[in-house]
Amino acid sequence: MSPQPGYRGRFAPSPTGPLHFGSLVSALASFLDARAHRGTWLVRIEDVDGPRTVPGAAVEILDTLGRFGMFSAESPVWQSQREVAYQGAFAQLLATGFVFPCGCTRREIVDSLADSHTRHARHATLAYPGTCRNGLQGKPPRAWRMRVPDGDAAVLSFKDRWQGIQTQDLASEVGDFVLKRADGEWAYQLAVVVDDADAGITHIVRGADLLDSTARQIYLQRCLGVATPTYLHVPVIVNEHGEKLSKQTGATALDTAAPLVELTQAAKHLGLRPSPAGSLEAFFSDVTAQWAKRFAILGR
Ligand code: GLU
Repeated sequence: MSPQPGYRGRFAPSPTGPLHFGSLVSALASFLDARAHRGTWLVRIEDVDGPRTVPGAAVEILDTLGRFGMFSAESPVWQSQREVAYQGAFAQLLATGFVFPCGCTRREIVDSLADSHTRHARHATLAYPGTCRNGLQGKPPRAWRMRVPDGDAAVLSFKDRWQGIQTQDLASEVGDFVLKRADGEWAYQLAVVVDDADAGITHIVRGADLLDSTARQIYLQRCLGVATPTYLHVPVIVNEHGEKLSKQTGATALDTAAPLVELTQAAKHLGLRPSPAGSLEAFFSDVTAQWAKRFAILGR
């Protein structure tokens, strides 16, 4: 891969609590990839999920990133300010007939899948069985869903720069997915695609817990007629129970007084071998060069 002058990458934390070690690893990976490409690194605050957003957490995350030497090249975008953009994309999809209202409750979906083959073992969430595809059958509308194709057209593959070729059958593994939730909030899948496209993001580097979402996002990009970025998903940090590290699963807060110690640990998790460094800048130069070599990013 040759360096791309137009490289634009991002770190997109959800402000559900302070930055923890798992999110530091994602932040560092995206930052190093942008640096290795001599590209632009941006931060987007994913506060679209109102009920999960913790007041003050976003500012705290930005402050911690700054202490760790990682600054957004442009003013951070806040999803809570992007209603007009999401509404516009939703209207575009609605006009093309891809979107339909759904009156099912979660309970109804679970029940209708109880003995069904569409229940996919790999997924924590259940594939939507298509109940309201052809009409609400007298139920009041709750959520709005994106219709996925049938047959071979539903199988989507992409090459992940870390994980290799990934294939997902949107019809059997996901089903028609939610764009606008029953509580009126925009779904993460729609917001992320619209935001990445509007920001001109060329390279997405994030945690592997989002691998399962990528095919849906590529499908949405195609339906909206926007470019698909390249993807790199770094392994997620799990606790002793195999759960993704998060505030809910007992992640301890980062020691913001010792950025080099925390960053060195994060770099090791990414398979890098940081030399003892006296400054953040020395640390970043060292690990950026290692990252560039590892991913064959030329021109350094
Ligand atoms: N906001 C998401 C999270 O914190 C990340 C979204 C993304 O990188 O696409 O898990």
